[in-house]
Amino acid sequence: MRSRALLTLFLLALVALSCAACVGASPTPLAPALRGSIGVPHHGVITDAVELPRQGEGYRLLRSNGVRWGTAGLVAAVQRAAAEVARARPGGEPLLVGDLSARYGGAARGHRSHRTGRDADLLLYALTPDGRPVRSPGFIDFGPDGLARIAGGGAAPMSSASSDADEYVRLDVEREWLLVKSLVRSPDAHVQWLFVARWLEALIIEYARALGEDPELVWVAESVLLQPGDSTAHADHLHLRVACTPDAFLSGCLGGGPYWPWLPAVPQLVPPPDVDLAAAILDDLLPGGAAAGSRVAAPDSAL
Ligand SMILES: [Zn+2]
Repeated sequence: MRSRALLTLFLLALVALSCAACVGASPTPLAPALRGSIGVPHHGVITDAVELPRQGEGYRLLRSNGVRWGTAGLVAAVQRAAAEVARARPGGEPLLVGDLSARYGGAARGHRSHRTGRDADLLLYALTPDGRPVRSPGFIDFGPDGLARIAGGGAAPMSSASSDADEYVRLDVEREWLLVKSLVRSPDAHVQWLFVARWLEALIIEYARALGEDPELVWVAESVLLQPGDSTAHADHLHLRVACTPDAFLSGCLGGGPYWPWLPAVPQLVPPPDVDLAAAILDDLLPGGAAAGSRVAAPDSAL
């Protein structure tokens, strides 16, 4: 009985995706509900994805590889948080945004997740050791002392002066906290996780406490900040994952971690589909085989 229900779900998903992906149509009467972020972050696809513009207030994309699509909620959360940081602390460098998801989700090179439009890599705000804002050095690890060494002195401080000190940058804890604070305070962001290394979480949370921030807000931040157990520690970026919204639950959005009590109440869940099978079916349907590679392991370092 259960397997029949799952099969029905897959067939409905099939119809919905083949229609929505190929002709951009609304879901058919046969599949009235399955759309948007479908599946779990490591196995899934997305219809109706929203494109994050290449740059906006307080942010710019790191790459131009087209992997910049997400749910409307994710894209808005990134834009809003970056703008709030820029307004609160003007004069800094923009937030560098790494990959989100591909146009129709599915496998994204270098990532195991990022398949359902609910993940975004946010590079870390950085300063020169003496406190000048500096462009993020890219995916370079920051240590427990908050410093990251740039091999060959690759940092590009706002000042053109070059010295040995420019081979290091340090975490801009102030802007990083502002970013975290904006994300967790936003009622629309639905933050599920902010994956980051344990020692960077400690720096950010200590800073928030020293600042006298609302203990409840700090507790929420501590809850969602997490060093992932199945990839690198994430000492080189903050990985934002948003939860399924209540509406998205009804249209096929699944899993990816806890659904925190402070998020809006969700309906009872349908049985989780076999996403491996769904991905196999979708390989043949989505443009460019968006689900292709869903069963191919990505590098272990990737999340
Ligand atoms: Zn990541």
